Amino acid sequence: MKFAIAGAGVAGSYLGNMLQKRGHEVEIFEASKPENHWPVCAWGASRHMLSKFSEKAGLKFDDYIFHVGQRLKMDLPNDNVEYLDLVGLVTYNKHKWEHDLMQGVKINYGVKVTKESFPFGDYDYVLDCTGLHRTLLPRSENDFIIPAYEYLLENVRGMDEFYVIGYKGAKGYFWYFPLDNGRGYMGAGDVEKRYQGISEFFQNHPEAKVVKKIGRPIRLAPPKKMEPFYDGNIIGVGESIGCVFPMLGEGIIPTLICCDIFLEALDQSKFDFKKYRKKVLDRFNYYDDVYRIVRLKMDGKLSTVRHANLLLSMYRNMKREEKRFGFEVTLEKMTRLVNAL
Ligand SMILES: Cc1cc2nc3c(=O)[nH]c(=O)nc-3n(C[C@H](O)[C@H](O)[C@H](O)COP(=O)(O)OP(=O)(O)OC[C@H]3O[C@@H](n4cnc5c(N)ncnc54)[C@H](O)[C@@H]3O)c2cc1C
Repeated sequence: MKFAIAGAGVAGSYLGNMLQKRGHEVEIFEASKPENHWPVCAWGASRHMLSKFSEKAGLKFDDYIFHVGQRLKMDLPNDNVEYLDLVGLVTYNKHKWEHDLMQGVKINYGVKVTKESFPFGDYDYVLDCTGLHRTLLPRSENDFIIPAYEYLLENVRGMDEFYVIGYKGAKGYFWYFPLDNGRGYMGAGDVEKRYQGISEFFQNHPEAKVVKKIGRPIRLAPPKKMEPFYDGNIIGVGESIGCVFPMLGEGIIPTLICCDIFLEALDQSKFDFKKYRKKVLDRFNYYDDVYRIVRLKMDGKLSTVRHANLLLSMYRNMKREEKRFGFEVTLEKMTRLVNAL
């Protein structure tokens, strides 16, 4: 079959690779020019999961790892501090990983796809892998995004571990994710656009040199809030249909899981739209609970007593998927965290 893919990020590069491997004809359209094509992301995810996806796509994930985390420090409101033991959370060369996935796949850079001008009829299916932009699918009235930006830094001293500042009311967080050789991503997502921690970081690290300043909002609305997933022969995959873990704004692994669901719904002659929709909704069902927790917390309405079932659902599901997150999940720490924010 003939596929067009709009967007060469996580979903576009992985699906380009996997569809071509299965013998389909694939063409990718990417808005950025090659020299500017840079994944806006802090490049942190679970080694366990990325190793599996890489293997399927013919890559060796260990070749891309920058930093293997041991322990994440989290500063919380009112001088609370929490430490999380890490079990596979790494940073990796996401730029190279995505580009290596697309080796041998036809890609047109510098082409900003639009609904008005795209030749939909030339393809059996057109995949909307434009992430936040959701360029080809109808807008969702229930969308929710959080502003974010970050710096790629080099020459940073004394910051060799994952570090986070959680904002009051779960309104966002500051991060420093170490890469290699004194490089790291420092940034923040914040509903209120205050980005606490960024100017303090520069004051405390005058040696740090800015290589890039990049940013875009992150979608927190889960798949349940981001329907439709398809429209005519257009199918959304990844962040375009809400595959982001709402508590963390973490979308690499959920997007790849969504890609595999897409591939499962595809046989040699057609795509099963209903099966795709159902499987996406089932697999990311608990993201809706997590999203409700985040929104209740942001609105100052979360009660650990009244919303105990919601909180327990989040804990149980995260515990079941501990390896996929790359950090320890304990009820004790989660309760402390929810209370401290
Ligand atoms: C600042 C920041 C930090 C983040 N850090 C992390 C992290 O550490 N770990 C994690 O798991 N998640 C993180 N995320 C979220 C994660 O990066 C995304 O959820 C994930 O990349 C989504 O994958 P995707 O393929 O759906 O979209 P993307 O990877 O965003 O790819 C979309 C692509 O589509 C292209 N595009 C957009 N519009 C068009 C158009 N009209 N025509 C053609 N091409 C177009 C874009 O240029 C881009 O290349 C972060 C997000 C941000 C903004």
